[in-house]
Amino acid sequence: MEVELMSITPNAEDVIERATRTCYLSFHRYNPPHSAKELIRKVIRKGHHSVLEHAVATFRIKGGSRVFTHELVRHRLMSPSQESQRYVCYADKPGREKTKDYHCIIPDTVKAAQIKSNGSFIDGEKAFLEVQDKCYQLYEQLLSAGVPPEDARYILPGGTESEIVITANFRELRHIFTVRCHPRAHWEIRRICLKMLETMKEKAPIVFSDFVIDYENESAYPAQDEG
Ligand SMILES: Cc1cc2nc3c(=O)[nH]c(=O)nc-3n(C[C@H](O)[C@H](O)[C@H](O)COP(=O)(O)OP(=O)(O)OC[C@H]3O[C@@H](n4cnc5c(N)ncnc54)[C@H](O)[C@@H]3O)c2cc1C
Repeated sequence: MEVELMSITPNAEDVIERATRTCYLSFHRYNPPHSAKELIRKVIRKGHHSVLEHAVATFRIKGGSRVFTHELVRHRLMSPSQESQRYVCYADKPGREKTKDYHCIIPDTVKAAQIKSNGSFIDGEKAFLEVQDKCYQLYEQLLSAGVPPEDARYILPGGTESEIVITANFRELRHIFTVRCHPRAHWEIRRICLKMLETMKEKAPIVFSDFVIDYENESAYPAQDEG
């Protein structure tokens, strides 16, 4: 999977600091970058999170599944633009070549599974690939028969790879990281959100500094910020 930061509000933390200082008319204390750290950490602790909405980031995410994108797009304050299975074809159709090759994500647990079939065990990955190939073959045949991609796609598995671009303000990103980097979140969205969090910790270190990344468990959580 690939997570690319496409754009971010320039001088994001300065924008947030100046917006916040407008609330209190405390520009006499404006002394960047030190004053930004103190003020932004304070408003986050106090729950005055609306000031974080003045900065936004846009990410392009490639190599995730439709299962993952379906979870991500549940976040209503985030704006998504996702690869369309109506306009994108994964196989040639009459009068038009395929837009891209078909690919399906296979979870590690499926790959490692041994499935009981007719009294013997078969490899989970092999079984998955066999069914996935059959689904894809039918998709291809349906397109050849003139069925539009928007209807042929019904046979494609949830693991089908999909590309998405999302834009969210820093408040919403903090919320998404809190619930989706949690150890109980699903591994795929957790892994992708961790990559976004790593980028945000680098680009906006004050706003995201309280998130502690636990690499061993591929998760993260906002730590209690005392200072
Ligand atoms: C571990 C996990 C398991 C899940 N399991 C399921 C499941 O089984 N089934 C299922 O359907 N979903 C499930 N979800 C999705 C979940 O229910 C939410 O739809 C998703 O996490 C979006 O989060 P949200 O609504 O908090 O935030 P967002 O939509 O990102 O909104 C951010 C915040 O804005 C505020 N907000 C947004 N819209 C409103 C509103 N209309 N009214 C009031 N406040 C609002 C809330 O404070 C909200 O937390 C799961 C999510 C997680 C993290």
